[in-house]
Amino acid sequence: MLEPTDLTARATEALLTTFGTEATVVGRAPGRVNLIGEHTDYNAGLVLPVALPHATYAAAAPRTDGVIRIASAQEPEPFTGHVDELGPEIEGWPAYVAGVLWTLREAGLEVDGLDMYLESSVPLGAGLSSSASVECATAVAALGVAGRALDEDLRRSVVAAGIRAEAEVAKAPTGGMDQTVAVFAETGGALLIDFDSGEHRNVPLALGDRTILVTDTRVKHQLTDGGYAARRAQCEKAAADLGLRSLREAALEQVETLADDVVRRRARHIVTEIARVEPTVTALGSGDRAAIGELFAASHASMRDDFEISVPELDLAVSTAVTSGADGARMTGGGFGGSIVSILPADAVEPVTAAIDKAFAEAGHNPPGHLIATPAAGASWASA
Ligand code: ADP
Ligand code: MG
Repeated sequence: MLEPTDLTARATEALLTTFGTEATVVGRAPGRVNLIGEHTDYNAGLVLPVALPHATYAAAAPRTDGVIRIASAQEPEPFTGHVDELGPEIEGWPAYVAGVLWTLREAGLEVDGLDMYLESSVPLGAGLSSSASVECATAVAALGVAGRALDEDLRRSVVAAGIRAEAEVAKAPTGGMDQTVAVFAETGGALLIDFDSGEHRNVPLALGDRTILVTDTRVKHQLTDGGYAARRAQCEKAAADLGLRSLREAALEQVETLADDVVRRRARHIVTEIARVEPTVTALGSGDRAAIGELFAASHASMRDDFEISVPELDLAVSTAVTSGADGARMTGGGFGGSIVSILPADAVEPVTAAIDKAFAEAGHNPPGHLIATPAAGASWASA
């Protein structure tokens, strides 16, 4: 893995070679892996993500003519525009980046012309939220260029601007977990977020000899196609049919009365998944490996059978992780591809990754990627 210092240097050097501009600040925001609580954010539920040590770095410098130029090491074509012409019609990858500059301005924050270069160690489209990572890195770099310290209020504005850019410009109606953890995560902890109260709390993870392993199946998901939005609509229908504001308020017995089989199963996933989050916090706190295994297994089965967002590669990675030494494993992120998360003894990382690689080869799948998710801190900017 590239170290933060390498990526900071790469981004500042590339800003110079691409645009001839000396960076004044470098913004950083991490990707994330969700431990449990999937698709619960837009149902006013609970989630428990961890920020990855893998992050997007945004080297930036101000301009006085209102022009915005942004290039990314991960995308071939740079973006050029003007602050006064930003809007929801921005397409492609700049939707996430120029899009968040627009939503920051819409929120009344001082964003002016700038040059920016992005470098990232978050795999794109792997269910690890490279999208929130790039939005939040861009936003904090732009605020850094304006000299703004990231106090609590400004952090909340970054979260909101990222959510709005993703929904209205990138057209991916995600629920807010990704941006919240990208901004508010603390080193060594997971972030327990309650989307009903709007509160979040750092949960220190005393992992001991345990490691969080992420395996990217390399099956590319696409949140802007129909699956995610369809699930969201089904959840909203279930809540409306029950006469509730959200599925957070639903009891399992109520959900079982829903007439439509698909809507009932979608709602059942949300209600049971929300109920698994706090027991997971407890199990992680006490190092109860059996409980973690059971909670992760139930969560994965619920996503596979009731919410129907898994794919064969995810199922194979999960079953192989568990049979080769993980305490627990489940698919993570929006689904339809992407990654799984496993909790396992540090000395099981080698045998588990080898077993998954072998199972994928035997099944004729592309080789997966593995990364260690040591819990990292949320977004920040520093002078270059
Ligand atoms: P995920 O968030 O799971 O990685 P998404 O489909 O939500 O997947 O977001 C991926 C998209 O975000 C990419 O296709 C690209 O448009 C944008 N993106 C992410 N990281 C970068 C980056 N470093 N530079 C440019 N665009 C990026
Ligand atoms: Mg995303």
